[in-house]
Amino acid sequence: MNGNSVRDDTQLDGATMRRWIRLCAAEIAANRDFLTQLDAAIGDADHGINMDRGFSAAITELETAGDAPPGAVLERVGSTLVYRVGGASGPLFGAMFREAGASLGTIERASPEDVLSALRAGLDGVQGLGAAVEGDKTIVDAYVPALQALERGLRANQDLAEAAASAAEAAREGVRATVPLQARKGRASYLGPRSAGHQDPGATSTALLFVALARVVSGPT
Ligand code: ADP
Ligand code: MG
Repeated sequence: MNGNSVRDDTQLDGATMRRWIRLCAAEIAANRDFLTQLDAAIGDADHGINMDRGFSAAITELETAGDAPPGAVLERVGSTLVYRVGGASGPLFGAMFREAGASLGTIERASPEDVLSALRAGLDGVQGLGAAVEGDKTIVDAYVPALQALERGLRANQDLAEAAASAAEAAREGVRATVPLQARKGRASYLGPRSAGHQDPGATSTALLFVALARVVSGPT
C-alpha cells in the first residue's frame, strides 16, 4: 500500500471491528490500575475498573453477535458500555460507539472515509451528551486532536494505517496537554484549581482506543 500515489482501498469489515474492540479491551485491561490511579487523584478511583468491566462485557457480547456488519458491532458495543461502564463515562463512551456505529449504517465494509465520518459522529455523540469542549480536561481533549490528525492524514493521501498512527500520537499528545488544565466538567471539576497538575483519566482511555485502532489497521487484515 503506497499512500503517496494511490488512494487507500482499505476496507474494514465486521471482523476487523471486532478485532479493534478486542484490542481496545486489551489496552484498557493492561492500563486498568493506571487509569484507576489517575482517577484517584482527581476523581473517585473507579475509572479503570469501570472501563475494564465495560470492555470485558463488550467482548463477551461480541462473541454471541455472530457475523454482524461493522456498524452493528459498534452499536452493540456502545449499548454494552452504557450499561456496564457506569459512572459519567459509561454513557459518554457508550454514545461514542453507538453514534459511530449508527453513522456506518448497514454497510458491510467501511472505507477510510467511512471510518473518519464514524469517528466524527462518535465525537458528536460525546459532545452532544457531555457538552465538553477542548480544554475542559475530558475525553474531548484526546479525541479532537486525534480526529484532526486522522483527517489531515487522509486528506494528505496517507493510507489508513499511517493516518491512524498519527491520530494515536496526537491523542497521546492531547492527553499530556490535560495535565496543567483545570477540569471544567465531571467529578474532577469539583476540585477547582486542585484538579490541575494531573492527567485526565477519560482522555487517557480515549487515547488507548486510538492506539488500538492504529494497531488493528496496521496489522494483516
Ligand atoms: P465518574 O466521574 O462518574 O467516576 P469515570 O471515573 O469513569 O466516571 O470517568 C471520569 C472521566 O469522564 C473523566 O476523566 C473525564 O475524562 C470524563 N468526563 C467526565 N465528564 C465529561 C464530559 N462532560 N464530557 C466528556 N468527558 C467527561
Ligand atoms: Mg471516577
